[in-house]
Amino acid sequence: MAYFAAMTSPRRILVTSALPYANGPIHLGYLLEAVQTDIWVRFQKQRGHECHYVCADDTHGTPIMLKAQAEGISAVELIERVNREHRRDLADMLIEFDNYGSTHAPENEALCDRLYLALRSAGFIERRSISQAYDERANMFLPDRYVKGICPNCGTADQYGDSCESCGATYTPADLKDPVSVVSNTQPVWRESEHYFFRLSAFEANLKAWVSSGAVQESVARKLEEWFSQGLKDWDISRDAPYFGFEIPDAPGKFFYVWFDAPIGYLASFTQLCARTALEFEDFFALGAATELHHFIGKDILYFHALFWPAVLEGAGLRRPTAVHAHGFVTINGQKMSKSRGTFITARRYLDSFPPEYLRYYFAAKLGPGIDDLDMNLAEFTTRLNSDIVGKLVNIASRCAGFISRGTEGRLSPGLAEPALQARFVAAGESIAAAYERLDYAGAVREIMELCDEANQYIDQRKPWSLAKDPGNAAAVQSICTQGLNLYRILAIYLKPILPLIAAKSEQFFDEPAWAWADAARPLLGTIIRPYEPLATRLDPKRVLALVDPVGATPPAAAPPAAPPTAPPTAPISIEEFARVDLRVGEILAARAVEGSDKLLHLRVGLGELGERDIFAGIRAAYDPAKLVGRLIVVVANLAPRKMRFGTSAGMALAAGPGGADLFLLAPDSGAAAGMRVK
Ligand SMILES: [Zn+2]
Repeated sequence: MAYFAAMTSPRRILVTSALPYANGPIHLGYLLEAVQTDIWVRFQKQRGHECHYVCADDTHGTPIMLKAQAEGISAVELIERVNREHRRDLADMLIEFDNYGSTHAPENEALCDRLYLALRSAGFIERRSISQAYDERANMFLPDRYVKGICPNCGTADQYGDSCESCGATYTPADLKDPVSVVSNTQPVWRESEHYFFRLSAFEANLKAWVSSGAVQESVARKLEEWFSQGLKDWDISRDAPYFGFEIPDAPGKFFYVWFDAPIGYLASFTQLCARTALEFEDFFALGAATELHHFIGKDILYFHALFWPAVLEGAGLRRPTAVHAHGFVTINGQKMSKSRGTFITARRYLDSFPPEYLRYYFAAKLGPGIDDLDMNLAEFTTRLNSDIVGKLVNIASRCAGFISRGTEGRLSPGLAEPALQARFVAAGESIAAAYERLDYAGAVREIMELCDEANQYIDQRKPWSLAKDPGNAAAVQSICTQGLNLYRILAIYLKPILPLIAAKSEQFFDEPAWAWADAARPLLGTIIRPYEPLATRLDPKRVLALVDPVGATPPAAAPPAAPPTAPPTAPISIEEFARVDLRVGEILAARAVEGSDKLLHLRVGLGELGERDIFAGIRAAYDPAKLVGRLIVVVANLAPRKMRFGTSAGMALAAGPGGADLFLLAPDSGAAAGMRVK
């Protein structure tokens, strides 16, 4: 990449990964990005460069506002809860942020105003009147995706207001036939409203020069060429109230569109870091700054990061990014992640069962520098981890360590048995480093694993275990095992950005301080090492396959699979058939979220004469468990108990609604008591 040419040493680097949206949990798709970024940051630090990694939750917009309303909490309460979950999940995946904030922060509001006012005074903001769908019942303007209707091109029903999923046509909500607001299910009207536009078209020439400077990957540059050839459209950066976001200066009732304030959140998060360190904001964002600014993103948000964002920075008189690095999506067993297939794997679900480093390694081993999708094949995940980490890497250390601790009381020999072999391992460091630098982690891992094979072959040939039978060979055994451990040490140094915990345990084992990259070049001789403790354990393939959970995929024990409100009635049944369903009034005695499930609440329900039951209900997105205790609900009491991943559900809580946050528990009028039959 071109930034190599200009880079000074030591480099000063600021890195971001894209902001996770506060509308849901961290999942494998985002983890890929966080892991890719974190490995690069750790690599730069290990090479002796100054590197800072900041991020924040993306918290604004209509979906957040509506979700909070549906939960009966404020938007701020919602985003604070999600922020805690996001921080915990990312920390458990060993993602080492220097600052992790939120776009709903005073620092961000101040920066949004600063950039906007700079753009305005430079003449890059224009006011224009536009016609937009308005929901008269909800009293709000409707974003394109909040209007649904019949595709004007192919006639498919139930399509969003911006594009048709059936024929791919793009259009505006005004083009839909029979448009309906998804907020209130009523027909929207069209109203004029004044909006604020950023004049992206004014930046076309400079953006082209920036793109061809090597700031993006080649495949990305080709994609951007397509957009340039279509002409850059000016960008509507305002939204009408009600909106969860920041109000635009001198424009009451107008708010910054979430995509305007989200990337400015990078700057805000860095400002928070500056406030508690000696770092200076201007050193990293002033025009002409000699520092580097790198953004890591998914390929779906290229338009925002490779066009809008550099233009906004330039228009506001700030530096542009050194590079924007895009990656592909995660697929599971060859298919898109899907909630209905049970392959929407959250970070928490993975972390509840497996060590973070295994996923970090697997992602790294498959991540190239391009934007291809990365397929997580669960069978391959198991074999790869067991073969590479347990069978090859850790095996080198575990085979040699025992002979050193038993035979020589932990002392390594004073010289290397195979200096030429050692020198080849050291020399490989530069091409491995170059692969890390250009984000070809798969290439780095491939080279490291080839060296692992060589190290194992060396030990296989010298057979310290058979030499050790004769006490006369003690010096030879010590020398061979010292060589083996030195080879392991080099490999662990090279893998440290990917496997920070195994590296830390290995540093302890060798009784050394934290390894810099350059430490690989210096052999460890004549010192005393500590007793060896196992560094990794094998994965059980059965447990890995359980990551994809077809049981958890279907909405369990609550409403039947989401039926649209207009679903036709099913075939008639007799009164006798209905009487076979034992419906009871139940009292919720306790309710809690189910760890590892996004959907489920675990309810303890009292049914009077029938005793108490455990019921798992798929209503987590719709209800706060703390507010359910003491409520009366309606329960199917004679439903056959259903074994689920989290326990057995002995009944069904009845609820209405399409699903997700839109589920509504049925409740009897006052006077009903737990255990009463419903008929
Ligand atoms: Zn269509």
